[in-house]
Amino acid sequence: MSISSTEREVLVVGAGPVGLTAALALRAEGLPVTVLEAGTEDRERPGSRAIFYHRQTLEFWEKMRPGLGWDIARAGLVWSTKRTFWGEHQVYERTYPPPNPNVLPHSTNLGQTDVERILLRHCKDAGVKFAWNQEVKNASTDPEGVTLATTDGREWRAPYVIACDGARSVVRKCVGIELEGPRIEDAFVIVDVAEDPEAPIRPERLYFYEHPAVEKRNVLIVPFRNGIRADIQLRRGDDPSRFNTPEGVKNWISRVLPPKYADRVTWISTYHFLQVVANSFTDANRRVILAGEAAHLFAPFGARGLNSGVPDVVAAARGIKRALTANHPDEARRVIEEAANERREAALYNRNASNLALEHMRARDWRTRLRRAWSVKLARTGMKAGQYLDSAPFGPRAAAKGTEAIY
Ligand SMILES: Cc1cc2nc3c(=O)[nH]c(=O)nc-3n(C[C@H](O)[C@H](O)[C@H](O)COP(=O)(O)OP(=O)(O)OC[C@H]3O[C@@H](n4cnc5c(N)ncnc54)[C@H](O)[C@@H]3O)c2cc1C
Repeated sequence: MSISSTEREVLVVGAGPVGLTAALALRAEGLPVTVLEAGTEDRERPGSRAIFYHRQTLEFWEKMRPGLGWDIARAGLVWSTKRTFWGEHQVYERTYPPPNPNVLPHSTNLGQTDVERILLRHCKDAGVKFAWNQEVKNASTDPEGVTLATTDGREWRAPYVIACDGARSVVRKCVGIELEGPRIEDAFVIVDVAEDPEAPIRPERLYFYEHPAVEKRNVLIVPFRNGIRADIQLRRGDDPSRFNTPEGVKNWISRVLPPKYADRVTWISTYHFLQVVANSFTDANRRVILAGEAAHLFAPFGARGLNSGVPDVVAAARGIKRALTANHPDEARRVIEEAANERREAALYNRNASNLALEHMRARDWRTRLRRAWSVKLARTGMKAGQYLDSAPFGPRAAAKGTEAIY
């Protein structure tokens, strides 16, 4: 069966957070949109993924759909304080002023599944159409548009497609685009625990260099709404099963969080992060635009994954709107290329920033070790070095050159 969309209807592949945001961004441009999703509407999504959203992301959401940014901000948890320790000694602390109820907060912390639930509700209210159980198995483009084939034998046709089908993107592979970049050999074990509602912990983000209770491994503790995430950086030569089996987790979690959390574990993952970016964000015919994890994968320190997937789709939707109203096919190609190139440049910037964060945490070269050691000494005398130690595990936060978006 062949299903042709109307002349202006755009298809989005994937109903993850980036695909749902793409659908809302297209609606904000006044375009009709259908989202094709391989899973069912009530599918369980495994793993603990995003929890931290920058103000920039909340602002994008609010702009494309008034009320959305605030819905996510209010559902999430805003940290009051962040602290960094070297061993037993605190080297940095920053307490934020109480949130202004009229301004979106600097960031918010909420499980990705909760964010997806809110996005889905807004998509339905905004008139986005969904086709669940539609796994795309083939994609091809020509100068007029895109043809997608799904595993149940249907064929879909549209002038433009935003591919948000995640890290293993079928659309990306079918149109001949490759991810390029390394896999980081270091392993990180990430554990989520359910918060104890009787005695919630303080909303403080903590980073420990050389945590004394876990034989000087680095540990990050991030509270989010109804939960806490603990992340331990394994050493080269560590056997991950000492840290990622139920017994192994109990052993270290009870030493970095109040011991009761050893019995409140909700998810355990072990990651060797990829630092990859697609060699192009659009196909040869300029009819498909890649976004989110279909286009780039970064280590999560600095929270650049979903936070950069959102500006990806804002740029894609704007480019598609301009292409659909262009007077000449060359003009249409040019605006799609502009959107794709802008976001690829941002992704390369983000990967570099994420690499700097990883280099700092891994401290493999003598320069990094020396800089860290000096910073600890200076931080004890109250100098700005403490701020460097606090921010370096998350990489620089500067804008990517030539783009309006930071991430
Ligand atoms: C441990 C960890 C922590 C993280 N923390 C943060 C954070 O705090 N902040 C942040 O910004 N980012 C974070 N990230 C990154 C963030 O989770 C990802 O960037 C985000 O999930 C990417 O969303 P996506 O929609 O691109 O892809 P996905 O979430 O993978 O969604 C892809 C969707 O496409 C569907 N699909 C796949 N193939 C097909 C097909 N062939 N046909 C139809 N549908 C298909 C899937 O079923 C899925 O619904 C973190 C990641 C990890 C691993």
